[in-house]
Amino acid sequence: MTMMDEMQLSFQSKSQNERFSRTVVAAFVARLDPTLEEISDLKTAVSEAVTNAIVHGYPDSIGKVQIKMRIYEGNMLELVIKDHGRGIPDVNKAREPMFTTGGEERSGMGFTVMESFMDKIRVISKEGTGTAVTMYKKISGERFI
Ligand code: ATP
Ligand code: MG
Repeated sequence: MTMMDEMQLSFQSKSQNERFSRTVVAAFVARLDPTLEEISDLKTAVSEAVTNAIVHGYPDSIGKVQIKMRIYEGNMLELVIKDHGRGIPDVNKAREPMFTTGGEERSGMGFTVMESFMDKIRVISKEGTGTAVTMYKKISGERFI
């Protein structure tokens, strides 16, 4: 796959940056002429991954969250959302619907939402080192790159 363009964003794990980060992803993807539904799907998936980095990755501190955005030939978008926080001890378990370590206020549906709105997701994590969530979505837009 030929990579056509890329951009990176780095910000502190503060909740106000979640909204900003999904807007940046939407702006980056605009060149592919995504449908409103595709934009909405992307924003939702980014929001879930970034919220996880903020609330689970850095529960008691402020750390760095990075988003790498890439477009590959054929309108394929790749997003990597990465933190250097707490990490996930058992990724397969964490990805199960309704699994949460967040208590009453969390529903444990974040990964399930990411899976349903994106074509594919991959989660790589190590306890004490951090988490990287890679997501792919083919954008159906008219403007082919
Ligand atoms: P919801 O997203 O519905 O509010 P949730 O965040 O608990 O609830 P998921 O997003 O599916 O549900 O995540 C499942 C679990 O995986 C979390 O409860 C947490 O234990 C772990 N997890 C997810 N992302 C991270 C991360 N970046 N760092 C550390 N742990 C994480
Ligand atoms: Mg979540």
